[in-house]
Amino acid sequence: MKLRDALDRCPTELLIDGAWRPASDGRRIDVHDPATAGHLADVASASERDAVDAVAAASRALPGWAATPARQRSAVLRRAYELMTERADLLATLITAENGKALPDARAEVAYAAEFFRWYSEEAVRLSGTVQHAPAGGYRILVDHAPIGVAVLITPWNYPAAMATRKIGPALAAGCSVVLKPASDTPLTALAIGALMEEAGAPAGVVNVLPADRSGAVVTAMLGLPAVRKLSFTGSTEVGRRLLHGAADRVLSTSMELGGNAPFLVLEDADLDAAVRGAMLAKMRNGGEACTAANRFYVHESVADAFAGRLAEAMASLRVGPGLDEDTEVGPLVNAAAQAKVDELVQDAVARGAVVLTGGRIPDRAGHYYPPTVLDRVAPGSAVLAEEIFGPVAPLVRFRDEAEAVRLANATEYGLVSYLYTRDLRRGLALADTLETGMVGLNRGIVSDPAAPFGGVKQSGLGREGGHEGILEYTETKYIATDW
Ligand code: NAP
Repeated sequence: MKLRDALDRCPTELLIDGAWRPASDGRRIDVHDPATAGHLADVASASERDAVDAVAAASRALPGWAATPARQRSAVLRRAYELMTERADLLATLITAENGKALPDARAEVAYAAEFFRWYSEEAVRLSGTVQHAPAGGYRILVDHAPIGVAVLITPWNYPAAMATRKIGPALAAGCSVVLKPASDTPLTALAIGALMEEAGAPAGVVNVLPADRSGAVVTAMLGLPAVRKLSFTGSTEVGRRLLHGAADRVLSTSMELGGNAPFLVLEDADLDAAVRGAMLAKMRNGGEACTAANRFYVHESVADAFAGRLAEAMASLRVGPGLDEDTEVGPLVNAAAQAKVDELVQDAVARGAVVLTGGRIPDRAGHYYPPTVLDRVAPGSAVLAEEIFGPVAPLVRFRDEAEAVRLANATEYGLVSYLYTRDLRRGLALADTLETGMVGLNRGIVSDPAAPFGGVKQSGLGREGGHEGILEYTETKYIATDW
């Protein structure tokens, strides 16, 4: 689809109570194009007053939606899945336009995002409680799950569609109404999803969408309102910590999907072809701008030269260009700050002795490009091993034995996902137990699946999204003691 057509079909105002309206103070967000660094669109930027209105709308819509039969809520989500699939081209164009990622990544994101609606249309009718006899006898224990209430959903720019549907899907399935605040870099996709939810039959006020570049003030205003009972946040650990402090004042239920620093372990018995294919997926999906992106490669010294050579060859062969060009495999990074940060990490590693096998320099062209880069023999203490890179850079470290590999992999405050390649499944499963992450890719470079519980341990977050666990995050457990 042509960019102009996609932009013409995308709303640019706030969605509150089923109506599109400008910000109360007229403020707009300037959405820019990462491929050219030029202007793309402007979008209403909510004020605190708009935020209060959106929560009031969600609050009014809540009782009706919570009382709607699960079969009907399920039908709305199923219709949203179908509409999203029909509109894949439009949504992928918007994602690429505002985020920069290559079209194949944007199309994959739309398919992944739509699956959350399909999965939670199925889960909506399977939310069951339990009945048991009290162990001491004399009465029964009934356990039920009720919708938690109005949920504030905050999403990042790296998966503007999937991070939204991963929250809207389970929230609506459970009977909650929501206010979605997308990242200011990528509000268009979220607004298009808001329009799609209306078309799918979500009643006015059940889904409200509030782009806001005064994010701190707008979110604080919402979290202070008694009607809000849930905060689901995906973003950086730093902002997540701040929001947890804010949520504590109101003892709010929170789900936190935060940063990662995924280790990718290649043992001496790994199938190297499979490991390189997995490494390319784990590193380069979304151009490296993923919380699940492999951030540190630990490779057994006996296979390190072979692995490094093959990985560098595969990385160097990728076509870098504007995301909307059909033959592009790696688009630009989201903004100038992201590009500068990636380069800073690379230059720090090089200054400490890392060997550049490919890439390693900002190209001389407009737009926020960074070339696929492989750094070998990265020294301990290099910032690139400790911080989220969020770009197409693969740092390699060699290890001698399994114990050293596990120690290095776990030496981080993060614990989202790890990847592990070995031909010995028994060894792999035993090692997976020792890795301090919420998810492990064992001989696989991708773990994300709407049917699986996605989430981290340590400072990568609290709670799970996807799977059956995902819907429980939007419920309160009610226990009734009774006898009959
Ligand atoms: P971010 O800066 O933390 O922003 C995330 C969201 O929070 C945006 O909507 C942002 O709005 C908002 N925000 C920023 N400051 C806020 C504040 N003081 N109060 C309330 N909201 C605030 O993260 P990002 O740079 O967009 O995304 C990248 C991060 O997300 C990475 O760390 C990545 O690992 C993480 N991530 C995690 C997962 C996961 O599932 N674990 C998935 C994807 C991404 P503005 O844009 O308006 O500032």
